[in-house]
Amino acid sequence: MKRHLIALAAALALSATAATAQTYPTRPITMIVPFAAGGPTDIIARLVGESMSKTLGQQIVVENVAGAGGTTGITRGAQSKPDGYTIMMGHMGTHGASPALYPNLKYDPNKDFEFIGLAGGTPIVIVAKKAFPAKDLKEFVAYIKTNEAKVNQAHAGVGSVSHTTCELLKAQTGAKSSAVPYRGTGPALNDMVGGQVDYMCDQIVNLVEQIKGGNIRAIAIATPERSPALPDVPTTKEAGLPEYQVSAWNGIFAPKGTPADITKALNAAYVKALDDAATRKRLLDLGTVIPDVAGRTPEALQKLVASEVARWKGILKPAEAAPAAPATAPAAPAAEKK
Ligand code: ASP
Repeated sequence: MKRHLIALAAALALSATAATAQTYPTRPITMIVPFAAGGPTDIIARLVGESMSKTLGQQIVVENVAGAGGTTGITRGAQSKPDGYTIMMGHMGTHGASPALYPNLKYDPNKDFEFIGLAGGTPIVIVAKKAFPAKDLKEFVAYIKTNEAKVNQAHAGVGSVSHTTCELLKAQTGAKSSAVPYRGTGPALNDMVGGQVDYMCDQIVNLVEQIKGGNIRAIAIATPERSPALPDVPTTKEAGLPEYQVSAWNGIFAPKGTPADITKALNAAYVKALDDAATRKRLLDLGTVIPDVAGRTPEALQKLVASEVARWKGILKPAEAAPAAPATAPAAPAAEKK
């Protein structure tokens, strides 16, 4: 009798799984973006989300839940029902640096998520307001050093990419300045275009159009090679600071416990998005590095998160939110082979 019951339970569980696989999704999916609209995380989420929506036959609706360097939105996402109807666009800050900076962080990047896929690598560019009085990186550093009290750096909150990567820059150059936190790159960039803040280190994505439009100035890109999206911008190596090499990334996550057939469907839609010609073109135009095939698996994202959490713990200390050790450069996620 007992054995029959077990068999019946197993059969029911199986049919429930099959039913989810066949029917998911039956309604719109919310993708939490943990920053304000108009920044790199938001733009990548909307681009990839739009293509995934077509594949899934249901709209992926972006919800911007900003605050605390992205940890507010990711906390909300991690605690939502693991039914496939809430997913998140995280990044190197929310799923890498934050555990080192927030001792009371309510989620564990390694344990509290299902990993869907790496949306893209995003090189870091040092940018300044148009009127910043420096024509290259050397002059930029020298100017900050002699004007420490009046130079302002913008960032997207403690633990964000723009915060931590600029902390690396400050540690390596000794050029200190005060920092102004924003709810995301979108509003920070608006103020830099308006001249209210002086400079930022941030993900290439939405800096590209502002640089090309002459609204802000690119000082240097922190990758070994120039970016095809910004061919005129010198690398930090060319500009005399070869040790400043840093690249960030964005990735899609679901709350832990989201059924495997659903995460599989989400991963398949995400992979299709990266292969969609229009989506690819837009991502590449914005300087995003599209992961190669091996880099598109949930396991690849899981591995990246584990290495990032470990790496940033060695670099950042919670008390000062500043680098504790000579900064080493993160390895950029592997790009597609040409
Ligand atoms: N790029 C931002 C950061 O500094 C966040 C954003 O995407 O708006 O982490």
